[in-house]
Amino acid sequence: MWKCKKCGCNRFFQTFRGIFSILKADKNQEPIESHNDILKYSKFYCDKCKKSGWTLDEIAEWVEEDD
Ligand SMILES: [Zn+2]
Repeated sequence: MWKCKKCGCNRFFQTFRGIFSILKADKNQEPIESHNDILKYSKFYCDKCKKSGWTLDEIAEWVEEDD
């Protein structure tokens, strides 16, 4: 698994900015047809210490699990 180089945490996240377009919705405002456009991704962040980098291997290293 990937582990943070700084704190050893194995959870990471990335945020993004985008547009959710409703092409068609029903009477209850539930989208029937929609389209997602992701415009911009953020860096990757470690969930715990918030170490950041543009690629996962910048902030984490692969550790083989022994089981
Ligand atoms: Zn970390």
